[in-house]
Amino acid sequence: MNKFTGYRCSLCGNEYLPGQVTYTCPKDGGNLDVIPDYDFIKRKFHPEDITSRTEASLWRYLPLLTVNEPAGDSTPMHAAGWTPVFSLPRLADKLGLKHLWLKDESRNPTASFKDRASAVVVTRAREVKAEVVVTASTGNAGAALAGMSAAVGQKAVIFAPKSAPQAKVAQLLVFGAKVILVDGTYDDAFDLTVKAADEFGWYCRNTGYNPFTLEGKKTAAFEIWEWWLATHRDWHKKDSPLDNHSPLSIFVSVGDGNIISGIHKGFKDLLALGWIPTMPRIIGVQAEGSAAIANAFYDNTETITPVSATTIADSISVDLPRDGVRAVRAARETTGTYITVSDGEIIQAIAELGKMGVFAEPAGATAYAGLVKAASLGLVKGEDPVLVLNTGSGLKDVRAAMQAVQPAPIIEPTLEAVKKIL
Ligand SMILES: *Cc1c(COP(=O)(O)O)cnc(C)c1O
Ligand SMILES: [Zn+2]
Repeated sequence: MNKFTGYRCSLCGNEYLPGQVTYTCPKDGGNLDVIPDYDFIKRKFHPEDITSRTEASLWRYLPLLTVNEPAGDSTPMHAAGWTPVFSLPRLADKLGLKHLWLKDESRNPTASFKDRASAVVVTRAREVKAEVVVTASTGNAGAALAGMSAAVGQKAVIFAPKSAPQAKVAQLLVFGAKVILVDGTYDDAFDLTVKAADEFGWYCRNTGYNPFTLEGKKTAAFEIWEWWLATHRDWHKKDSPLDNHSPLSIFVSVGDGNIISGIHKGFKDLLALGWIPTMPRIIGVQAEGSAAIANAFYDNTETITPVSATTIADSISVDLPRDGVRAVRAARETTGTYITVSDGEIIQAIAELGKMGVFAEPAGATAYAGLVKAASLGLVKGEDPVLVLNTGSGLKDVRAAMQAVQPAPIIEPTLEAVKKIL
């Protein structure tokens, strides 16, 4: 049984029944939104039915998900999501903010936000009885697909650019996926994957192509909602300094635009159910060298013009974003905005987060780099509550991490040498 009523094209608005389409709109190639059965959910569930659950993973949101529960329990598939939120008072001070938090997605089972998407897509793949799931990836989407597939014994094939960081390639291989490195860019790998899926009848997970990646990614919004409910019960009390606080600003790094669109979708679901009164502000951060979506946002258009992407943040290095239109809307419809940051600012952000005990890969630190810039521009200030996502672990790209720090000295094993260095 399908747990959704159909799909709606984000471009032409055309609706399709569950069996009519699989990936994008047949008319215009637009990204499809999976339509949950809102009436059913509304009738059957209340927020407390979710918040009282003990499941510490994204599967606690099963009533709001458009797939059924995966087979088996306590596999790594059940460790996706439910990531911690840390408060960062020292960084807040530096930025002139009072309320700054970071949600650490590097705690996911394969160490990036992508596990949310892959857990749900692999579950969908089992529902449609797919023999093989395939994805193009700059590394993390593949690692997540490989890891979640391994967890439930699903066959997976990954196409990645041959320039993908070693640690990510190692993950793919260790999880036992069939790994094919493409002598080309992520975009080349993407197109090849779509062709291969078509040719061999594989189920394609590609980001911004398979509608269920968004369904996984929206769970981060549900967690932010629950965290907000749990930690801010007092905000409306009489003497609370946050009595008239502005909405939560959420900073998220953007490549294809699927994470930001997923977070937007999650909050739209909650709004449609009447479970939240208003939307948070969603602020997308792109690398200057890979800013096709930010460009469209600033040009006030939904036409995404490809760029020739170059940035140290490999996970958000994208020529042609595959979920650009919804990503533009995520900021536009929530009074958010887009920020672009240089590679130097990204590296600096790795160093600053590191000193708070958070080890981010370049694309993960990009969101914080965007906040630094937004604060300097006065886009967020003072009492504004701010949540930054770290989307991936620094262990994914150790070479980039080393650029954020001074190399350690090497000394003779004597106390004299130690004294000299101190
Ligand atoms: C994929 C990824 C992103 C960007 O997500 P998009 O959906 O491509 O915008 C950001 N950070 C990390 C670590 C990622 O792996
Ligand atoms: Zn369409």
